[in-house]
Amino acid sequence: MACGTTTNKRGLIRIVRTADGIVADPTGKLDGRGAYVCAQSACWDGALGKGRLEHSLKVKLTAKDADALRAYATTHSGGDR
Ligand SMILES: [Zn+2]
Repeated sequence: MACGTTTNKRGLIRIVRTADGIVADPTGKLDGRGAYVCAQSACWDGALGKGRLEHSLKVKLTAKDADALRAYATTHSGGDR
């Protein structure tokens, strides 16, 4: 997902559409359609709240998926790790 706020690939988190739902894929190894979101809360807000992630993955996020991703974002965004 080209949000333009970073060009550093290490600052991006891959989100993958799997048979089990939409999951964060920090290893980058899961099969499926993927999208990248920066490890910044503002970017997650846009991806989750404004439907950009759904658009990129061509899927409707369930409330469960969205909650899990938000929890992941809270844990992993904003840091340098
Ligand atoms: Zn971003």
